[in-house]
Amino acid sequence: MNHMEKDYLTNLPSRRSLYQYYNSLDEGDKVHGMFLDVDNYKRINDFYGHSMGDRLMVCIGRFLQENAKGFAARIGGDEFFVVLDGKMTEEEVSKLARNLIKQFKEMDFREEILSMISLSIGVVLNQMASVPLDELMEKADIAMYRAKLDGKNRLAVYREEDTTYEINRRMEAEMESALRRREFLVYLQPRVNIVTSELYAAEALSRWEHPQDGLRLPKVYLTLFEKTGFISKMDLYIFEEVCRLKASWKGTELEHLPISVNMSRMHLYDRNFADTLEEIANEYQVKTSELEIEITEKTFVKDSEMLILMAETLKAKGFQVAIDDFGAGFSALYLLKDIPVDCISIDKGMLRAASEDLRGKKVLRNVISLCKDLKMDVVVEGVESKQEIDFLTSYGCQIVQGFYYSNPLPPDEFRIFAQNYIGNEKDCYSFRLNGNLNAEEGDFRGLLSGEGFEYRAGIFADSKSLHFPGGPTEENTVHIPSNVLVNDSFTVSLWVRPEVLRNWTSVFYVKYESGFFSMVPLAWDGNSDFRIRDSKEVNGWYDVTGCQLWENTWAHFVVSYNAKTETATAFINGEVVGVRENVPVNRYAKWIMLGGDVFQPSFVGDLCELLVFNEAKDYDFVKKLHENYTGKENFIGFKVE
Ligand code: C2E
Ligand code: CA
Ligand code: CA
Repeated sequence: MNHMEKDYLTNLPSRRSLYQYYNSLDEGDKVHGMFLDVDNYKRINDFYGHSMGDRLMVCIGRFLQENAKGFAARIGGDEFFVVLDGKMTEEEVSKLARNLIKQFKEMDFREEILSMISLSIGVVLNQMASVPLDELMEKADIAMYRAKLDGKNRLAVYREEDTTYEINRRMEAEMESALRRREFLVYLQPRVNIVTSELYAAEALSRWEHPQDGLRLPKVYLTLFEKTGFISKMDLYIFEEVCRLKASWKGTELEHLPISVNMSRMHLYDRNFADTLEEIANEYQVKTSELEIEITEKTFVKDSEMLILMAETLKAKGFQVAIDDFGAGFSALYLLKDIPVDCISIDKGMLRAASEDLRGKKVLRNVISLCKDLKMDVVVEGVESKQEIDFLTSYGCQIVQGFYYSNPLPPDEFRIFAQNYIGNEKDCYSFRLNGNLNAEEGDFRGLLSGEGFEYRAGIFADSKSLHFPGGPTEENTVHIPSNVLVNDSFTVSLWVRPEVLRNWTSVFYVKYESGFFSMVPLAWDGNSDFRIRDSKEVNGWYDVTGCQLWENTWAHFVVSYNAKTETATAFINGEVVGVRENVPVNRYAKWIMLGGDVFQPSFVGDLCELLVFNEAKDYDFVKKLHENYTGKENFIGFKVE
């Protein structure tokens, strides 16, 4: 080794000398390999200039010469490789490496510079010298890479399973260029309203279309992107792609469809984050109110203050804000109270637990209920079966996402999916009572209970209505399936022609788990009543009083309840006759009765055109609904015989 080539700066053997040395070993010799990389060396060059960087490198060279106890070479900028004698035990090697890491911080150099740097060491143990040096270096390098990922300033020993690190390392090398080459794609997964079967929104999920490996799922690359901080770039890229997509939907029926975008917790610490998002949205002329920012619940415990702050900032700019994966981590229930979010996504784990047993169902049902009481929308994720849809419907859940409806789709396929869903509105069940008890939608039908019913003249010249003969309490009534009423908010529209008016007799009565509501043509002294009872409170009686309905006269009686604003409204003939606020929500309709209730003698008179909407309708809607009836040529509802 007389003519060994030296590295000009450190005076250590060069890469070439390392090969020469290694090839001169006996094939039967055993060796260990040690790969060293200086953490944050680049920063020294950036902060203090290259001459300081060079001086540091000289110092490190001397340090390794004195301490590395093997053949140490400089193989690149801030990378070194040491071949150690295989006679050293594994303990001795790791002790050596640990000492190097420790002593490195005690070199004779400027302290503030040493405080910025450290050593990451990867070791490969017990190799035969017959193994090519490249392989030895690669294994040690893979281990070194893991040391970096695990937080730098440490030692990692190569294991066979480190090949996943190798995959990560390749990905890390590729990710920046993948972004430039637009290899990251937006897939969209539909969120569907199970009550109306309408497309409600979509969630954007990233995919990596790798030129060789094909489509990569987030679970392959997200952890790495988070560790390296690259996630911030990718999230913004995906967000911009979503805005671009929304802009391309201008003029189509998808134009205003809200899209949710996932954002890593890293952004919580970026003070300009909300501004950046707003700028991008503005650039594509996309309304911030049609974009939802999802932040996972797993971050809450640690970062709750930052999260509240960020949610407030985003909301001030008009974005929707959602908590993702609720129930997957350490759900801090009390935090729900303070976080100003619009929506909670319930993690699929909670749904799986509910599918399995009764206690799981109770947890899910009450979490849904809790979120709704806090006036937040609820999305249940991971819905895969009709069975799950059924129990979710009965728990008052409206929005779901899952393979049952669709996988995440590329935007083109998403559009095709959407076309089959948009306009497929089913938020209303209509029982016309025009000669039968069937609903126009689905297999819902009313059930007569009692006798003396007949079909008589309706509100149109050629339509009928159902005549109720009256009778003792609960007799001669019609039962309507309770699953037509599955939402907390609702509107019921009914044409009523009383023959005999009795105080407090109901025409429409819904029994809930703990309460009821009823529509009463005459409650007392000339007043009709939309009464809501909350039996959880002793004095939970909520009456919306209007003018009374008259004998032998048709009237269009509509009641509406908005669970978000907790407002109940009564309408007669298209006009508001009574409003009441702070009316609590009733949940889980048990059964519905037409033409009577459980307290009073049954209704005598005619009913027709029963519409049940799973949504609160406003004045404009009710007015128009009314005019649609009275404007028809054959309308005879107000004619006095
Ligand atoms: P997530 O936000 O909870 O998204 C829902 C995940 O559940 C998606 O996985 C989706 O494909 C999957 N999924 C949907 N329906 C079903 C179902 O019925 N059953 C089951 N078992 N799974 C279902 P994906 O696309 O692999 O995404 C995984 C996670 O990666 C996402 O979970 C999200 O947290 C994260 N992620 C995806 N894209 C991005 C992104 O651009 N930025 C950030 N920061 N995170 C992202
Ligand atoms: Ca999500
Ligand atoms: Ca989720």
